[in-house]
Amino acid sequence: MRWFDTHCHLDRLPESLQPVVAVQHALAVGVKRIIVPGVTGAPSHAESLYALSGVELAWGVHPDYIGECDCFDSNLEPWVGAGYTPVAIGECGLDRRSRFSLKEQKPAFVWQLNLAVRHRLPVIIHLVGHYQLAYEILTAMPEVPTAVLHSWSGSPEMAKRFVAAGASISLSGGHLHRPEKLVRLLAELPLSALLLETDAPDMAAPGWPGICNEPAALPEIAAVIAEKAGIAVEKLSEILYNNSVRIFGQGKQQQNG
Ligand SMILES: [Zn+2]
Repeated sequence: MRWFDTHCHLDRLPESLQPVVAVQHALAVGVKRIIVPGVTGAPSHAESLYALSGVELAWGVHPDYIGECDCFDSNLEPWVGAGYTPVAIGECGLDRRSRFSLKEQKPAFVWQLNLAVRHRLPVIIHLVGHYQLAYEILTAMPEVPTAVLHSWSGSPEMAKRFVAAGASISLSGGHLHRPEKLVRLLAELPLSALLLETDAPDMAAPGWPGICNEPAALPEIAAVIAEKAGIAVEKLSEILYNNSVRIFGQGKQQQNG
């Protein structure tokens, strides 16, 4: 089986788990591709992360860090000089816990949605609260970018509305802490709209024995999701891997020939 971790902060692992080791663990259990989202723009150590097998990078500013980025007035690609080309914009979005006001968060979110459209890239959206507002912002775009709602924390009903607008919903180990809600989500959403992520180093699944969450945890998370969805884990693997490729592309190895 092969797995695709669509959201993993390899640049934020504790020192005791080097990214190169986390990637080795991941490859050993079939996690073939990993996307590292940006939080303050480009991921830290972007070039060395990008050199790791199966690792690709996004560029984005999380709503907790918008005050640390002065790029929002620019018309230039903000990743110039960072040593990589992003496969997505994100993570960006709205968060009711952010130290920045909604008034400050909103323009940064809209700017990044436009950036995604301009570069024909998918956008990885982080939402905590403000689901309806984010839905309205996204669907009011003249051209709606391909959106991934990462580690979805809203209701199954709201998820369904995003999916109807063309978005995908990414599930993480965090969902295993609320099995009843996970079952409702799975009942509401088509498998074609689902993705998987670890959101490592946070969001560890219950009982994960590692020093922190890491991409190698993905198959165990998937096994629980498959059981709750009532399908074979092999089937889930193929469907979700293909969903991820449809959104994020064939990957750097294939592109390089
Ligand atoms: Zn994240």
